[in-house]
Parts: sequence; C-alpha cells; structure tokens
Amino acid sequence: MNILRPDLFVDSIKDIPLEKLQQQGIKGFVIDLDNTITAWNSYEVAEEVMDWVKKAKSMGIALCIASNNHEKRVMKVAKILDLPFLSNAGKPRRKAFKKVLSILDISVDELAVIGDQIFTDVLGGNRMELYTILVVPISSHEFFGTRIMRRMERIVIPYLQKHEVK
Ligand SMILES: [Mg+2]
Repeated sequence: MNILRPDLFVDSIKDIPLEKLQQQGIKGFVIDLDNTITAWNSYEVAEEVMDWVKKAKSMGIALCIASNNHEKRVMKVAKILDLPFLSNAGKPRRKAFKKVLSILDISVDELAVIGDQIFTDVLGGNRMELYTILVVPISSHEFFGTRIMRRMERIVIPYLQKHEVK
C-alpha cells in the first residue's frame, strides 16, 4: 500500500505550502494537468492557480507540467502559464519523471509531484522516490479510463488517510 501513499493530501494546488517545502529542500514541482491545473480538457485556468504559479516562480521554484494527454492540449495550457511541459508522458512510468528531472535540471530529492490521481501521479512519483502531493480533482467530469481508476481510489484513499504516517 505504501507505494500508493502520497506524502501530502491537499484540497487544491493553492494549498501547497511552498515555503515549508522549499525549506525542506524541494526546488521543483512536476504538475499534472487534467483535474489538477484545469478541469479535464478545459483551458480555463483559475486565477488562484495563476497566482500560485506566479508565486512559485518568484521564489525560484522550477515548474514543469507533465501530462498523459496529447501535445496540442498540454502545450496550450503550458503557454498560458509560461511553463515547460511534457505531453504523452506515460505516467506512472519512471521515464516520465526522469525526463522532467532533466528538463528542470534538478535531482530526485529536489522534485515533488503534484497530481490528482493515485495510480498515475502518486504511484509514478513514489516509484521514483519523489515527494508526492495528492490534490482533490477539480471536476468529476473525466476520461472513461480514469473513471474506472476512481472506483479503486475510492477504496484506497480512505484507507491511506486512516493509516496516515506522520
Ligand atoms: Mg489528472
């Protein structure tokens, strides 16, 4: 079960404690797109997400979007936020996170993963021994394959929260 366990549960990206994590040595974040930055297949970025990105950048934190979605979709949002990106990332495979490490030029202990899915974002990050942060999905509207994984998450997440290790 521990391979599915995020290091931190938050409601939204804007609740991530940037100062605290920076003090702990985090220098960069790899951020999922669908239902983490925007609703699934939406191009609308909430102002609070914009502000969070701006703040992270001003603190010298490196950011990269990594999504399993296609290039056109990911590029468009990356442009709005002026961030580097990786599309068709293939999370939870390690290769995705290795690519991000080279894009951001930081090491494994300096990168944290932000995402809304246990079986792609958290599992992938944990396989690489990265710091992992699970956000609550922005919307319940999503890809069919994802909806099936959600059923499994509904079983796993309450268990993980109940047995949270501090
Ligand atoms: Mg997602």
